[in-house]
Amino acid sequence: MKVAFVASEAIPYKKTGGLADVVGALPFYLNKLGIKTSVFLPRYKGIKGSLIGNLQIDMKEKHNVQVYTEGNFYFIDYPKFFDRDGLYGTEKGDFSDNCERFTLFCKTVTQLIKRYGYDIVHCHDWQTGLIPLYMKLDNMDTKSIFTIHNLGYQGRFPSSKFPILGLPKEYFDPEGIEFYGDINFLKAGILYSDIVTTVSENYAREIQTSESGFGLDGVLNKRRNSLVGIINGIDYSLWNPENDSLIYQKYNNFNGKQKNKARLTEECNIDCERPLIGMVTRIADQKGFDIIIKAFDDFIDMGFSFLVLGFGDEHYHNKLKTFESIYPDKVSVNIKFDNKLAHRIYAGCDFFLMPSQYEPCGLGQLISLKYGTVPIVRKTGGLADTITDFDPDTLSGNGFVFREHSSKDLLKALSKSYEIYCNKDVFKRLSEKCMDCNFSWEESAKKYKQLYGSL
Ligand code: ADP
Repeated sequence: MKVAFVASEAIPYKKTGGLADVVGALPFYLNKLGIKTSVFLPRYKGIKGSLIGNLQIDMKEKHNVQVYTEGNFYFIDYPKFFDRDGLYGTEKGDFSDNCERFTLFCKTVTQLIKRYGYDIVHCHDWQTGLIPLYMKLDNMDTKSIFTIHNLGYQGRFPSSKFPILGLPKEYFDPEGIEFYGDINFLKAGILYSDIVTTVSENYAREIQTSESGFGLDGVLNKRRNSLVGIINGIDYSLWNPENDSLIYQKYNNFNGKQKNKARLTEECNIDCERPLIGMVTRIADQKGFDIIIKAFDDFIDMGFSFLVLGFGDEHYHNKLKTFESIYPDKVSVNIKFDNKLAHRIYAGCDFFLMPSQYEPCGLGQLISLKYGTVPIVRKTGGLADTITDFDPDTLSGNGFVFREHSSKDLLKALSKSYEIYCNKDVFKRLSEKCMDCNFSWEESAKKYKQLYGSL
């Protein structure tokens, strides 16, 4: 079976979030199961590869697009659109021509799928949403799967851009890709693919409700018989403290972990004696920064220190930086994307915080488990599927879980975490129990293989 993955980011080339981890790892695990996979990405700034061909893409006018390759990756090259700093925009906001950029990408990939011949195209997120529709219009035999990694990002553009897409007029309709007067790329992927998947079973249920459906719950309900939730895995060849060369010292037990904490707190100038909460995250509303900010003084008073690595919403950057200046020896705020520091935070913190408003799967909590860093999460989406609340009497559970999106509930979970931390023996057992949890890709890759087979 030949499968083409199509996405807007993948490690080791470009990454802004979990999508890149998934698209970088899953094809490798599918290959191990005998499925031949290729991956199609835009050729962003800095990506090299060898030139293998070019094609003309009609988008109001003709565009000459080149194709590069390296290993099993294909890169769509159109420098005017992709040779920039940033994948989707800058700190100031999204690029104004994202509709044009990803329409060109979808049109080009559709032609290449036809040229190279694939059994299945596996599209990821809104940037690839038009591909299943272009394939249908071209009567292609290839089947399509569309995976939603985050329903909150839909690729919504004004109707004035509709002619760029080159679609028959009737598709601009509420039954088609119109969404409250706009174009919606994600809706196209949901409506016209053969199967829709998302990245946890719980999120697959949640997105069919009006509270979590971002206006697309009706469309997703319509497709409920073809909607499947498959939890993401972790690539343990990259994320494993036993052979991670990016951390201060490799380890496979609690004592080894403490050496990483000592070095991390020294490097970031924070108090080593306090329990340390870490975050590695996009800094966005989704990730629960509103309730963190409200609870901030209280959890510092409780006795925690706090270390965050992330990038995103400027308003939260400023708030966090203010806390850093108020608590210089207890708070470290690192506004950047930094893979090495990310590994060191997973290794060196005691707790990993994810108080998300919603979380399709979440990789942070799964990575932190492997490093013995105890997750503190809100019960939503994939966090609810993977983390259960710790019970000190039975020692069941692998983290701390709270329900309501409120600073009050967050503080309750933090207070319980602090109590457990103070009982060194129990905390050590919990941390080592986390290290033993297994969320490798093997099981999930088998589920994707089954799904491909069903097509
Ligand atoms: P999302 O996909 O919503 O951003 P996930 O938890 O699923 O969240 O995945 C985030 C991934 O991106 C993880 O691998 C995390 O370590 C990484 N990451 C997020 N922000 C940064 C950053 N500033 N520097 C390095 N890695 C980051």
